[in-house]
Amino acid sequence: MTELMDGKLTAKKVEEDLKIRIGLLRERGKRVPKLTVVLVGDHPASLSYVTGKEKACARVGMLSEVLHIPRTISQAELVKIIHRLNEDSNVDGILVQLPLPAELDPQEVVRSIDPSKDVDGLHPVNVGKMHMQIKGFEPCTPRGILRLLDQYQIPLQGKDVVVIGRSNLVGRPVAQLLLNRNATVTICHSKTADLHRYTRAADVIIVAIGRPRFLKKEHVSSKAVVIDVGINRLENGKLTGDVDFDSLNGYVSHLTPVPGGIGPMTIAMLLENTMDAYHQHEILREV
Ligand code: NAP
Repeated sequence: MTELMDGKLTAKKVEEDLKIRIGLLRERGKRVPKLTVVLVGDHPASLSYVTGKEKACARVGMLSEVLHIPRTISQAELVKIIHRLNEDSNVDGILVQLPLPAELDPQEVVRSIDPSKDVDGLHPVNVGKMHMQIKGFEPCTPRGILRLLDQYQIPLQGKDVVVIGRSNLVGRPVAQLLLNRNATVTICHSKTADLHRYTRAADVIIVAIGRPRFLKKEHVSSKAVVIDVGINRLENGKLTGDVDFDSLNGYVSHLTPVPGGIGPMTIAMLLENTMDAYHQHEILREV
């Protein structure tokens, strides 16, 4: 039997907790947390992700604002907008929706965000802190993966974990968080020779590559816990992950669905990071 790991339900619990905490702030007449999302251009997937984030903020009573900027903006103008948000004491979290149009340098834009408002956890200061095991903002998808594993009481210490994908957004940071939890981590990528040699021996497999139904039953053992991060839209309009869900369901120990797995967890962690940023800012105001 496979236990499906319900990201939607777990994210809902996180949101319910945040809603109570923000409700208490309102009752006490306090300022409430605010997230500002910077969206450049009209990339359809980005538009839908940003709408999802706005709706999530509204569900928990968090303030949100979307700065929708034409794709013709220059790098210097965009950085200026970020600097203005850095200075705005009502803004706790700043998220620049990626990818940016090709003419803009995403690394420089992310570096211009104040690390104390970098709720996406992509600024080099926060990445460095994660590597050094110092508290900072962890990127939302990796953090959501760890939270879901914890929710289902999946042990990580001493376990063989294979991460497929090495992006700065998912693969590398989730491998680091797993290492911080004493797992033995192998990172596979497009140049890995005989990749399935690793997946067949793994206790936990995390797939984040953007290749529909890449991981199949013959590539995994029946004891495996499989986390599917991929979001791929098929020609028929349906969403599917990087895992062949139908062949693994009923065979592996645990499995995340797509949709309803890591996607909702990512948004819940964004809200939680913004709440944490708020508390840091409020503490600084009091001293
Ligand atoms: P990315 O930046 O395109 O990176 C893809 C990674 O996969 C690269 O490291 C690449 O290897 C590796 N790869 C590609 N094809 C491979 C293959 N055949 N075998 C082994 N490795 C392969 O993607 P990403 O941003 O990490 O996103 C990955 C997937 O997760 C996408 O479907 C994305 O939509 C999804 N995603 C979901 C969420 C969520 O909230 N659920 C959040 C973020 C991303 P090389 O480095 O060697 O090129």
